[in-house]
Parts: sequence; C-alpha cells; structure tokens
Amino acid sequence: MPTTKAYATVNATAPLALFTFQSRDPDPEEIQIQIQYCGVCHTDVHQARNEWHGTIYPCVPGHEIVGRVTKAGSRVKKFKEGDLAAVGCMVDSCRACEPCRAGLEQLCEAGPTFTYNSPDKKHGGTTYGGYADSIVLDETFALRLPKSLDLAASAPLLCAGITTYSPLRRWKIGKGQKVGVVGLGGLGHMGVKLANAFGARVVLFTTSPGKTKDAIRLGAQEVVVSKNADEMKRHLNSFDFILDTVSAPHDINAYLELLRANATLVLVGAPAQPLPVNAFNLIVKRRQFAGSLIGGIAETQEMLDFCADHGIVSDIELIPIQKINEAYGRLLKSDVKYRFVIDMKSLA
Ligand code: NAP
Ligand code: ZN
Ligand code: ZN
Repeated sequence: MPTTKAYATVNATAPLALFTFQSRDPDPEEIQIQIQYCGVCHTDVHQARNEWHGTIYPCVPGHEIVGRVTKAGSRVKKFKEGDLAAVGCMVDSCRACEPCRAGLEQLCEAGPTFTYNSPDKKHGGTTYGGYADSIVLDETFALRLPKSLDLAASAPLLCAGITTYSPLRRWKIGKGQKVGVVGLGGLGHMGVKLANAFGARVVLFTTSPGKTKDAIRLGAQEVVVSKNADEMKRHLNSFDFILDTVSAPHDINAYLELLRANATLVLVGAPAQPLPVNAFNLIVKRRQFAGSLIGGIAETQEMLDFCADHGIVSDIELIPIQKINEAYGRLLKSDVKYRFVIDMKSLA
C-alpha cells in the first residue's frame, strides 16, 4: 500500500499539519491522480474548524483538484496514464435514484460521497481530499480538463466555478438581465466572470471598497459598497437575479428588497448561523429565495468546456502548502485575490 502525504487537522482548533495515510490501489474502474494543484475553498475552513458540525477528524480538506493520471484500472475508459484529470466536490453517489439518473448527483437521495469528510460507502473509512499528493476515485466522477486552460488557475473551477455556473444556467441568465453578485471572494469572482460571459449586466456588492477596480476588471459593470445605504437604495426593486456567495452572517433582507417582482435570490454561501428573512420582502412582490449546491458531473464537464471556449479561469494566489494556515486566516478577513491555490510540489 502506497503512503500518501497530506495536510490534515486533528481537531477544530488545531492548525493543519503534515499527515500521512495508506492509499489503496485503484479498483478496475478507478484512477489514481497525482495532484498538482488544489484550490482552497471557504468550505475547507468551515469544515476544518467544524463550523457546520459533523467534521470527522483527521480531516484532509480540498475539493478543487487538478493533476495527472498515474494509474488506471483495467476497466477505465475515459482516461489513460499521463492524462490530465480533475476532481470537484464529489467522488461517488448511489447512481440509481432519480436525481442521480438525471445527472444531479449532488442531490443524490442517499447523499453523495463528498471528496472529503464523507463516509466512504464502498471502501469504508472517511474520504480524504486534495491537500494531498494523490487521490484514488471512480473515473465516472473524474473530469476531463481541457488542455488550453492554465492548470493552476483552472483548479478553482471544480468548486467555485461549478457552484456559480449551475444556478446561473438553471435560472437562464443571459442578455438583458440585471444580475447581482454578493461578495467578491472565490465564488463571487467566478460568478462575476460567468454572468458577464452569459451576457448579463453584472452589479457586484462588496463590503471591501478596495475591491472595486478588480470587480470591474473581472466583468462587473457596477460596484456597490453594501455598507452604504444610499447606494443600496438606488437599486430597490430592480434585479432579475441575485447570487449571494457570502460565507458569514449578513442581512439577506437588504438584498431581497433589491429584487423586482417574481425575481429570485439564490444563496450559495453557507454561513453556519440561520439568516432571518422578513416575510414581507418575499410576499409583497412574490419574490423567491432559493439555494443551490455545486452541480452534477455532466454539468461540471460542460462548465469546464465552456470556460475553455471562453478563456475563463480563476484569478489565483499560488501558495506552498506550508502557508495554508496563513491563507485560512486571510480568507476569514476577506483578503484573497481571488482564490488561493496550493502548489502541491511543496508537499514533496
Ligand atoms: P471567500 O473566498 O472567503 O469569499 C467570501 C466573500 O464574502 C468575501 O470575500 C467577502 O467579499 C464576503 N464576506 C465575508 N464575510 C462577510 C461578512 N461578514 N459580511 C458580508 N460579506 C462578507 O469564500 P468562498 O470560497 O467564495 O465561499 C463562500 C461561501 O460559499 C462559503 O460559505 C462556502 O462554504 C460556500 N460554498 C457553497 C457551495 C455550494 O455548493 N453552495 C460551494 C462552495 C462554497 P467582499 O470582501 O467582497 O465583501
Ligand atoms: Zn468548495
Ligand atoms: Zn443517488
């Protein structure tokens, strides 16, 4: 059994540190990927620190994985040794329930097997994620990475990309629509790029006035500093769609009242605490408040191909794994431009 090097936390307050575990040889339908880059999602912070409860320790986070196939089982069809491959937030699902059969594995009725911190229903134990030198998974849940995409900068597409792409597609965002994106972090900056690529007029809401210039460069037509009540008021009842990516408690009512009649606010950010909703903000204009979770495997492939066609990747800060605890501290201060990506060579 090969030894895999990784970074893990052993409890909710411990820093991430070197950790080794024995990985399995791939089953006939599985591949082993040597991980070259892994993005750092705010979910990794929520999970490492047990903010959502239910973290199983040791926890090896990471679900924005790109690398090369180093082993392919005898029944593998999609990949051969040496191919680029990518992994997002899931490594398996039941494949039999209605959502799975519809390509919505993230909504699997039995619950998908997430890339980390999930009981591994097939092999036992707990899944370990991408802050590691390799991962083994069923080829069905691995994605093909278009060669034209910069490898490090494409890693965040595997979570931040699909999590924003999927709701923008489901709510049919396009030309002529006014779309708000709340928060300019990892998800938010991908939301701005993708909504802009779909032809929408994008307004970015931020608590960080210093991000204004970047937001315009990334594809926003207008930036609103959300702490400024007058600026917010100018947009009352005017949005067709708002995508909220904020990771911490905030006033959702301030955004609901910016929607026009029948319009929808989709929450993808996942603060640990409940968000109070004023009923009148929903009923008066028949507004809708919805949520969205990553995307299915086919849609993730579609998103990667779309990004390749449109030259879209993430804006990243490349870090060695030894800087991961510092990066978590900066994420908590909204200080990231706009996704940390770990160069896994630093683990060697
Ligand atoms: P991130 O890079 O840390 O970005 C979050 C942004 O939210 C910050 O940059 C900041 O933007 C804003 N923000 C932070 N604290 C705030 C506060 N107290 N009030 C108002 N705004 C605040 O995080 P991320 O990786 O994009 O993830 C965002 C959230 O989405 C996390 O909760 C994560 O767990 C969740 N998530 C959900 C899914 C899903 O499938 N639904 C998938 C991935 C991640 P400004 O500086 O511009 O204000
Ligand atoms: Zn994520
Ligand atoms: Zn299922």
